Amino acid sequence: METIVTESPRIAASWLNKGELVAFPTETVYGLGGDMTSDTALRQIFTAKGRPPDNPLILHLDSPGRIQEVALEIPETAERLIRRFFPGPLTLILKKNENVSPLVTAGLSTVGIRCPAHPVAHAFLKQCNHPVAAPSANISGRPSSTDWQAVHEDLKGKIRCVLKGPQSTIGLESTIVDCSVYPPRLLRRGAISLSELKASVPETTASAPAENTRQPKSPGLKYSHYTPAARVILCRPDSQQSKPGRKSAWIGLSEPPADAAKTALCSDADNYAYRLFSFFRECDREHIEVIYCEVPPDEGIGHAIRDRLQRAAEG
Ligand code: AMP
Ligand code: MG
Repeated sequence: METIVTESPRIAASWLNKGELVAFPTETVYGLGGDMTSDTALRQIFTAKGRPPDNPLILHLDSPGRIQEVALEIPETAERLIRRFFPGPLTLILKKNENVSPLVTAGLSTVGIRCPAHPVAHAFLKQCNHPVAAPSANISGRPSSTDWQAVHEDLKGKIRCVLKGPQSTIGLESTIVDCSVYPPRLLRRGAISLSELKASVPETTASAPAENTRQPKSPGLKYSHYTPAARVILCRPDSQQSKPGRKSAWIGLSEPPADAAKTALCSDADNYAYRLFSFFRECDREHIEVIYCEVPPDEGIGHAIRDRLQRAAEG
């Protein structure tokens, strides 16, 4: 299949409305979108990514006013989070209504919903006839795509269209909060931190990390994620761990080791998140064998970076 690259949200939306798959930019990472009413498109998302069928998709809407199209009810906790964080890098899990195919939710009675704040995503979603089901636009298990070139690298020939935009400004996937239960539970860390969530909904709880791996509440969390071809090793600031003689790279916030073949010194945690996945991919292109990742401070988006690094190191 020929993959068209366009900067026009209108052209991209017209492909999607015809049942074709379209990758599109958002502020978190690029999404791989399909019309939620087309079972063929939904099945193709799983095939194109090599995604396990029990890993549900998030529905993307151009405006919070449309949540009723897909949710059975909007609890008061969700309303507060919507008011504070929509549009933005937050996904809410709500009880689904009959419009949502089990292919979207992997058979669950709940559905993930997000309204991206990105202007190109917004223009695109506005011209799509229905909500757009979209996981991250990468081959399953690989680092999420944060620029259109990464999308092209993974999905060229497998999808109809790539809507080209700038590099995703956040660089990590959305924060996910389950509001189908009370009290709401944080299922995936992201740019919006637990303390920010608690400022709006104080009763929000975090699921213990061990729960995610043994019996994940959020299905996708059990799979290996974010893994470059290179081995990922976590290190403490200034630990000078890298081993000479290997083609190694380093990313972090303090002084890079002198013997690393490639380094990314990040100005702060936001910049670390922004650069992490594209750095992983650059390392793969340059056949780096080991990537040393400095563990950032355990606060704000640093928490989400730690979570992704942990999974990358396990993969
Ligand atoms: P991705 O867009 O690739 O980051 O994947 C979407 C992720 O959202 C999945 O891997 C799940 O962890 C989560 N998710 C989507 N829908 C649900 C749901 N109904 N309940 C819990 N988690 C969900
Ligand atoms: Mg993903």
